[in-house]
Amino acid sequence: MREEELEVALKVVIVGNGGVGKSSMIQRYCKGVFTKDYKKTIGVDFLERQIEVDGEDVRLMLWDTAGQEEFDAITKAYYRGAQACVLAFSTTDRDSFEAAHSWKLKVENECGEIPTVIVQNKIDLLDHSVVNPEEVELLARALGCKLIRTSVKEDLNVASVFRHLASKCLAEL
Ligand code: GDP
Repeated sequence: MREEELEVALKVVIVGNGGVGKSSMIQRYCKGVFTKDYKKTIGVDFLERQIEVDGEDVRLMLWDTAGQEEFDAITKAYYRGAQACVLAFSTTDRDSFEAAHSWKLKVENECGEIPTVIVQNKIDLLDHSVVNPEEVELLARALGCKLIRTSVKEDLNVASVFRHLASKCLAEL
């Protein structure tokens, strides 16, 4: 049995093509801001936020790829010890949707099977969508992951992504 006072810390990696909103999501969730021209902070590996989930204090450490999204550019250190994953693509970027499967395999390869949420970001831009809902559902089912649609800009569903992951991780402890 775990000690009452023991805090659970979870390393969460955020992957997906460049421009889908990964850094913005981390900023939004950890700092409560959305900045259009946010430039990646060099030297900062992750931001963190503490939440209570299922009666437990959980410290989430959200790791930013810092612009190194190419598969081979992300170092092993980025993935090391990751316990959960956000796999993001953008409503307005077809390539990012099509890359999702490869990202899942990459994470599996580096981390094994860890709780993963597929995030369709930028749903405030649904009028300009280049993916249809059915194919997104199919992808999530094929990858065996929960799908959550978010707008980091409008702060829609961002918190539920991390709540879901934390809850899944706690259930596996
Ligand atoms: P990253 O390369 O995946 O880290 O993506 P960024 O966080 O740098 O975001 C890329 C661009 O998309 C930035 O101009 C963000 O302001 C914008 N962006 C991020 N999330 C959203 C969103 O939910 N809606 C809209 N409209 N723009 C977003």
